[in-house]
This record gives sequence, C-alpha cells and structure tokens, in this order.
Amino acid sequence: MSKQAISTPQAIRGTQDIFGPDAEAFGHVVETFERVRKLYRFRRVEMPVFEKTTVFSRSLGETTDVVSKEMYSFEDRGGESLTLRPEFTAGLARAYLTNGWQQHAPLKIATHGPLFRYERPQKGRYRQFHQIDAEVIGAAEPQADVELLVMADQLLRELGIAEGVTLNLNTLGDAPSREAWRAALIEYFRAHKDQLSEESQDRLERNPLRILDSKDPRDKPFTADAPMIDQFLSDEAQDFFGKVTAGLDAAGVAWVRAPALVRGLDYYRHTAFEFITDRLGAQGTVLGGGRYDGLLEALGGPATPAVGWAAGIERLAMLVADTRTIAEPAADVAIVPMGAAAEAACLGLAATLRRGGLVVDMGYRGNMKKRMSRANDSGARFALIVGEEELAAGEAMVKDLVTGTQERLALHAIPAHIASA
Ligand code: ATP
Ligand code: MG
Repeated sequence: MSKQAISTPQAIRGTQDIFGPDAEAFGHVVETFERVRKLYRFRRVEMPVFEKTTVFSRSLGETTDVVSKEMYSFEDRGGESLTLRPEFTAGLARAYLTNGWQQHAPLKIATHGPLFRYERPQKGRYRQFHQIDAEVIGAAEPQADVELLVMADQLLRELGIAEGVTLNLNTLGDAPSREAWRAALIEYFRAHKDQLSEESQDRLERNPLRILDSKDPRDKPFTADAPMIDQFLSDEAQDFFGKVTAGLDAAGVAWVRAPALVRGLDYYRHTAFEFITDRLGAQGTVLGGGRYDGLLEALGGPATPAVGWAAGIERLAMLVADTRTIAEPAADVAIVPMGAAAEAACLGLAATLRRGGLVVDMGYRGNMKKRMSRANDSGARFALIVGEEELAAGEAMVKDLVTGTQERLALHAIPAHIASA
C-alpha cells in the first residue's frame, strides 16, 4: 500500500517566521518600547487586527497608496467588508470615538502588533509586518508633538541605534497654509506635467504634495525647485512649528529641517517627521509620524487634534542586530540527573529553583556525558549533578563550570550558594 504524498503548504509570500537571534532582537525592541513608553506615561491599548473597511477608507482617503493598492480587504460570511489593519492610527481613532475615550483627553496611548499591506516583498518590506505605535489624541498643544518626538529619540538611544539615524522634520502648516501651498504646487507642476513620471502626473491634481517625495529620477529636477511650505505658512502655523523646534532643542534632540517631507495622507497638519537611516538600503525610514488634526472628523467625530508615530519593529530589530547580537538568555544553573529516580526528583528541584527566579536548564534525555556537555553549553555557572547517592542524602553535587571545583550541598542550600557566587 503506497502512502499518498502530502505536500507541505508554504508560508504566505511576504510573511516571516522569526526565530533565534532575530526573534530575540524583535522581542528586545518591544520590551524596550514598553519600558520607555511607561517613562512617558503612555497607556497601553490592545486593538483588533481587523476593522470595517470604512475605518481605513474614510480616514486614510481613497486615493492614498495604502487604500488604493495595499489593503487586505475581504467579505466575511455575513457579507460585511472587513480589512486587516494596514496601520494603527485609524483603528485607534475609531476606538477613541466609539468608546467615549474623549473623557480621558488628552489621551496618551501606545500599542504594538502586526499590520498587513499588499506590497512587493523585499528586505525590510513585508506583507505582514509589525509596528510599535504611540499617539496623543485630543491635544492641540505643540508639547504633545515634542513629547512624542523626545520619546522616539529616547527609544532609539536605548536601543543603541540612534547613531546614524536622523530626525527629518517639517511642518505642513494649518489648513489655510496647506491649501495655499497645495494650489501653488499644482500650478508649478502643471507647467512641467509632460516631463513628470506617470505616477506624478496622476498625483498632480489629487495629491500634489506626494510628488515632492517621489523617488523617480524624472521628477527629481522639478521637485528640487518646487515652492516650499515656508512662504505660505500663517503666523499661527509658524508659531506652532517654532514651539516644536524649541522644545526639541530644549530636550537636546537633534533634528534636520526637511522642507520636502510630506506624509501621504490628507489629514496631516503641522508637524510631519521621519527618522531616517542609510543603513537599511531603500527601506530607510524606521519611524514616521505627524499631526493629524483632520482625521477624527473624517471618521464622523468632533474636531479632535491628535499626533502620533509608528515604527517598523523589523527595521528597528535589523538596526539592533547590526550593532550587536541579542543573545538568548543563558542559564544560571543546569541540572544533570543520573538515573530514573533522580530524573523525577530533579523536576521538583528545577521547579523550586525557577520559582525562585533562576534560569534553569535541564534536558529530557541522554547519558551523563551528553548532559554535562549540554550543561556546559547552557552558559550556566553551576551544574547540579544528582545521582542515587545524592538523592538519598537530599543533596546535589554542585560543580562550578568555570573553575571545575565541586562540592556536595544540601538541596535547600543551593539557591543561596548560587546567589552568592
Ligand atoms: P515606506 O515609505 O517605507 O513605504 P510608509 O510611509 O508606508 O513607509 P508608515 O505607514 O509611515 O510607512 O509606517 C511607519 C513605519 O512602519 C515605517 O517607517 C516602516 O518602519 C514601517 N513599515 C511600513 N510599511 C512596512 C512594510 N511593508 N514592511 C515593514 N515595515 C514597514
Ligand atoms: Mg509604504
């Protein structure tokens, strides 16, 4: 009787199975973010991975890349159009409105998790990727922008990757400034329309700001001379930007003015920023964000100023891995049982030591030699060798794996012995 060949399904293109040192680096990014966000008293939120499609199509705008090309949308069995979240901000804004979180305004929140975009997979660009995210909803004050940026800077410093990462900062002005700039850009680019890339021609009337961050060489000569926001900034917008930069200077956060930096979405106002590096090839933006005062209204809520940022965990983890290896944790102690009775008793010993906070390594199988070699590989300072004789006496042979010396100790004396080493 021949067994039918079963072919193992492959993983979905653009997804990753993260393991070993990469997974450690990933976890290190999340843990560092968790620690830092608490220093700034950002409150944790956990969000659904999918939302009604309108949450994203209304808030991001139908014409943005994310909505027009990148969303994973599907009909569920009830016939409702749902979308796997391509970003956090829209869902958080939806939650703010539907849960009455206005009562907490200004609300400082942080979250992290997977996002989904149908993109062309490459290094640093995936179809399922992960972000850390921080938002302040219900604050019109520039102090909120400053606090978020200082927190982002501290995160990069604590991850040890601040060197070589530059904060590019711009203002998109308030609504009148932005409208005047937009009109001037349309007029300017219209005069060169035929020489622009197809994509930029397409964006000309809909979203001319985006032409400014085009990477197409055909657009470059024109973007360099395009009108800049500064000549259109209202006094208020200028004052707001001045307060943001003064706050950054006061906090010792370095920044560079990037007059062509725009964020894709229509709802952005005032502050826009990206932390950029040239160490990740084409995927050089590690963290991006800005003020999105128009977003909550686009979702049917009252006018609500807000600002936030998101960073790709994979890109941060790659930068971390470039500078050092985040090792899997070494054991404090390795247990080597000899014989069936000791095997069972050592499960108890291991549990006791772990409950006391020690990292314990103990294998499931193998002779004495194999298990001693495993103990040596575990990184533990001590091996606890337990045979029948030790077991009967309620003791273990404690071997110092660094010096090679060994002594028999009562089991209850072992934690203190390890702690004092
Ligand atoms: P990019 O210009 O690289 O496409 P974006 O402007 O689409 O980035 P945002 O929507 O601002 O990115 O998301 C914030 C951060 O999330 C990015 O700076 C990046 O670190 C990360 N990111 C975005 N898309 C992806 C992806 N497909 N794979 C991995 N990380 C991503
Ligand atoms: Mg993108």
